[in-house]
Amino acid sequence: MYALNNIHLVHYSNNLLDIISKEIAKQATHLFPDLRKVTVFLPNQLSQSILREIILKEAVKQGHDAVLPPTLTTIHQWVRSKHEINKPVLAQYARELILVDAIKQQPDLFSSANPWGIANELLSLFDAMLLNDIEPIEFNTYYQGENQDISRALLHESDLVKVLWEAWLNQTTDENYIDPTQAYANALKSINISEENIFYCVGLDQLSKLECDFLNRIEKQCTLLFFAYASNSDCSVRTNYWLKKYINPDTQLEFKQNNESTPYSILLDEVFADSSLNIKQRAEIFAGSQPDSLGDHLSTYKSNNFEHHTKAIDVQIRIWVNENKHNIGIVTTDRKLVRRLRAVLEHANITVNDAAGWALATTSAAVVVEWWLQLIEERYPAKQLLALATSPFFPVEDSDLHEQAINFFEKEVILAFNLHSGIHRYRSAIEKVQAKNQTVDACIFDYLIELIDRFETSAQLLAKLHSHKTYPLHRFINELLNSLKPIGLYTTLSNDDAGKQIINLFEDQVTHFKLVDNKLSWSESRRFMSRIFDQQNYKPPIPQLINQASVTFCSLEQSRLQQFDALIIASVDKNNFPGTNNNYVFFNEQVRTELNIPTWRDDHARHLHQFRCLLDAADQILITVQTEKNGEIMTPSPWLEAIETFYYMAYGKHLTNTNLQHLTEQDSTTVKKRSEIPFPAQSIQPGPVLLPEIKPDSISISQYQSLIDCPYQYFVLSCLKLSQTNELKEELSKADFGSLVHQSIHAFFSNLSSIPGPFNKTVTTHNRKEAEDTLCSISKQVFAQSSDNESDENFNNKLWLQRWLNLVPKFIEWESKRQANYLPKDHEISKKYNIDETSQIHGRLDRVDRSSEGYAIIDYKTGITPTKKSIIAGEQVQLPMYALLNEGNTNEKTTQVEFVAIGDNNTVKSIAVIKDNELDNLKNEHLHRLQSFFKSLQQDIPLTALANNDTCERCDAFGVCRKSFWDH
Ligand code: SF4
Repeated sequence: MYALNNIHLVHYSNNLLDIISKEIAKQATHLFPDLRKVTVFLPNQLSQSILREIILKEAVKQGHDAVLPPTLTTIHQWVRSKHEINKPVLAQYARELILVDAIKQQPDLFSSANPWGIANELLSLFDAMLLNDIEPIEFNTYYQGENQDISRALLHESDLVKVLWEAWLNQTTDENYIDPTQAYANALKSINISEENIFYCVGLDQLSKLECDFLNRIEKQCTLLFFAYASNSDCSVRTNYWLKKYINPDTQLEFKQNNESTPYSILLDEVFADSSLNIKQRAEIFAGSQPDSLGDHLSTYKSNNFEHHTKAIDVQIRIWVNENKHNIGIVTTDRKLVRRLRAVLEHANITVNDAAGWALATTSAAVVVEWWLQLIEERYPAKQLLALATSPFFPVEDSDLHEQAINFFEKEVILAFNLHSGIHRYRSAIEKVQAKNQTVDACIFDYLIELIDRFETSAQLLAKLHSHKTYPLHRFINELLNSLKPIGLYTTLSNDDAGKQIINLFEDQVTHFKLVDNKLSWSESRRFMSRIFDQQNYKPPIPQLINQASVTFCSLEQSRLQQFDALIIASVDKNNFPGTNNNYVFFNEQVRTELNIPTWRDDHARHLHQFRCLLDAADQILITVQTEKNGEIMTPSPWLEAIETFYYMAYGKHLTNTNLQHLTEQDSTTVKKRSEIPFPAQSIQPGPVLLPEIKPDSISISQYQSLIDCPYQYFVLSCLKLSQTNELKEELSKADFGSLVHQSIHAFFSNLSSIPGPFNKTVTTHNRKEAEDTLCSISKQVFAQSSDNESDENFNNKLWLQRWLNLVPKFIEWESKRQANYLPKDHEISKKYNIDETSQIHGRLDRVDRSSEGYAIIDYKTGITPTKKSIIAGEQVQLPMYALLNEGNTNEKTTQVEFVAIGDNNTVKSIAVIKDNELDNLKNEHLHRLQSFFKSLQQDIPLTALANNDTCERCDAFGVCRKSFWDH
């Protein structure tokens, strides 16, 4: 048991920092304007800057133009600054490393548990023990001696803590460095205090035994005034229970009676009173003597919808800003809400201070470091490489050249070759493109090759480390930092606030990690780095504002001693206020209470006290609750429920802010930014006429098909040449499969360089096996050439290849029957046909066979095959147009056309065979259509969008024609 001797209590309805500044002025009159002998211990940095300002104002009031201010600090900062330590002090992350090492050496203790999580929990337990002066070794003995009826599980837990404590202690002692909490504990015990000094403790609600002892010593040697908020002098209200831990019968409690307790504050005291009367009785008695004082100060908003919840807060803040409230606070632990609100408020041009900041991992600087590591881990993946090269962190001397080169690299190298990764593949593709492309400026290629080289050389040593099994963590960090230098990322990161924090953090930690002799694998080092990025917060610089409204986000802990013009306490559900009751992994409540280390009950009491302080921290307060999250019902905080119930029982009213509810539902209360660009005029069905310079004199068969499907589609894709941006294909697609099958069959009949084959005999039932083997070996080579052997892509290629190899016997069987009557003549042959004197159609035929009756054309299909009905109806143009093209060049009749469907129901078969008169009619029909098309072009007939739903569903010009605006 430990306690303070003398405590001054001030009612919640006062501003404690104002009172302290007046106290300082009174107690230290003889010192003014030099207040350096005054030290004020405060709970956090925010309260330090507020008090500094108040003291300066107080000094001016007292007639001093300038003042040498008192020391405003935390106990920890002050004690550490006054005490010299002659050993290196371990940093937080080095402690974790040591403990994880100790845990790994005791595999029997925690079989499958995550050692990093356990290390974290154990370190906070060790800290609590050190600061409460409990030696775990003694504790273990005491614990077993005092508690004979202890359960086996607890005994095991206590043994385990002892073993790890000893292992950890031995390692730190052996290496001759000191744990930071141990250093603080030593300082608290031994620090010298100057007798002339005056000390104040203000708003501190969590003290360890050693800190209490330290304050007791100050009290004996010089002046110490401990100030805290309370409702009355005997701590009989639940919001003051936290104090009971620090008082004993000898403690002097002085309650500063004030005249300022408002009916509102008195009502809140009554809500949390510890009384034998139930809440209904208390509420009724209270209402009998006091008018309603709550409704004007405090209201609530509840919604089960995240966006409504966010909007309600946004609307409320804008109302307050319009009422000239400058200092608006939002206290919440809901980080998702904070992130969304930041965006919404910034959109409404409201300045935001986020006292907590956000995880370093979410900053763009951390993302850049992550991409850099992924380059090494995944052999320079294209996505990350491009992202890095186009990020603002990437240093560039000639931005025009860089932009041109990266665009070219993306489109003509990465997308054109479908390259996912591999620095050598990029290099060789760049060289191939350069060999073929004489029109592109050579400096683009030189720039790209130099860039690729720079990536590779910068990452060389780190990549080498990646191939090692384990290594000390400091080597990983060192190599990482070194690799960032030649590529220029080190400099650009250092010039960014968050990037600088990352570099400083690494450089600071690396010296500590050198003290720790343990080895990690690459993935462990990466996980460790991610943990640092997740745990460390980036706090953007706080904007300096004069007479301008701003919103400050802070947590309950950070809100201590703050005062606001208006306040929102957001997401006040049971999980956040007071929070879950299983925060401590080691030792249950009873054991913790016996040991005098922090318990859940202590935390709960402290948080209730902080919540009560907040209720008097502003004149206008809105409390919000999101009643459903991820499909789960969220129960409002019991503290909020107590207020609502009391108020309803006293006055029969609810605290719901109905006006805010109404405003939130209105669309007109959403902030909308108007674009400078006017909205486009109402769309009508488009039907453009071609400008003379883009009128074609030749079209391909596929363009003709597009023209039949939808003239506007033809206009967009073929005349304007608009195309959808290509994307890197994750794996071989069905279209790629079709193209590889086409190539394999082509090589089966023709001599293609670097591919086996051709099969120079007629395929018969006798040589089927030989034909199959030839086609199989051709196919393996063709598929292999299309993928990177080292990547996952190769796995998908193998699956597609196997699918084709299973079909090869069926194809050969079909081929042997075919060759009984037809002789294969040409494959993959390009042809043209003159429509009239000035216009042509062109296309590429898969295969042309000869028979005694004339030519027969085949088109292989590995996907959907058009039906004969659609060809006869003139909707599908391919087969009749092939016949026309073939006749234009040979002057000999084409008597038959057909599709050969490969893979349809795992078969190979002829489909839509069209012959003789039927074919002649179709050829004539299409010839007339084409002639009239070219004529209509000369007559400027519009290319109207047809909006046929079947075509629109797979149209690459969808969106360009704005179909949804005119086709109702
Ligand atoms: S979406 Fe439909 S109407 Fe529009 S261009 Fe494509 S096919 Fe024509």
